[in-house]
Amino acid sequence: MITDSMFADDDLLPISGLQHLSFCERQWSLIHMEQEWSDNVSTMEGRHLHENVDEPGSVSRPDVVMIRGLRLRSLELGLYGIADLVEFYRCDGGAEIAGHLGRWRPYPVEYKRGSKRCGLPDEIQLCAQALCLEEMFGLHITFGAVYHAKPRRRTEVEISDSLRRKLKEQCSRARQLLDFIDRPVPNIGKHCGNCSLVTECMPEVIVKDRSAAYVSGIIANISVSQESLT
Ligand code: SF4
Repeated sequence: MITDSMFADDDLLPISGLQHLSFCERQWSLIHMEQEWSDNVSTMEGRHLHENVDEPGSVSRPDVVMIRGLRLRSLELGLYGIADLVEFYRCDGGAEIAGHLGRWRPYPVEYKRGSKRCGLPDEIQLCAQALCLEEMFGLHITFGAVYHAKPRRRTEVEISDSLRRKLKEQCSRARQLLDFIDRPVPNIGKHCGNCSLVTECMPEVIVKDRSAAYVSGIIANISVSQESLT
């Protein structure tokens, strides 16, 4: 049932953007508000991995159906995306899925290119997929997994209350940023070295300009105060 508090299809945000938002708000705004995009080695590797795993298809075994490239949507959260892989396990309390007899419980698996351990941005993205699946299939999901291609390790993640809260905070933050006229200021740090949009962002220049403007503002204020004393 669609209620007034739900988002319209045109207002949905991509799940993939949640990762950019966790990485850097300025990067998120460049990509999702200004449609800027540049590839570096990391993004090319990631795209290549997702091109392979997002190719729609399914594999069935007696107790599990694995569906790749499943389209996801949550009107409650205002999100849409594509799940790399959803495993549906046969289970009495599960949901029906087209073309398969019985009832099934979904278990999302998000693919990542790197060898890093599963971090909060990965968990938030997985949680978003789980909540989309909950809304689509009308049941509660307690676990999913993040799979790292190097060294082929799968980490199970609990879709806990605190993770759900963090996801909702991210969604609200993304919508707040959409209302801002200015881009968020650069958040310069080590992560800029891994950012594919460093050329578009120009973090050093912007921060220097802002510092200069700040100092000029202080000087102007001091001059005004001195004039008022004379
Ligand atoms: S260069 Fe740094 S501040 Fe700029 S978008 Fe990338 S991560 Fe953010």
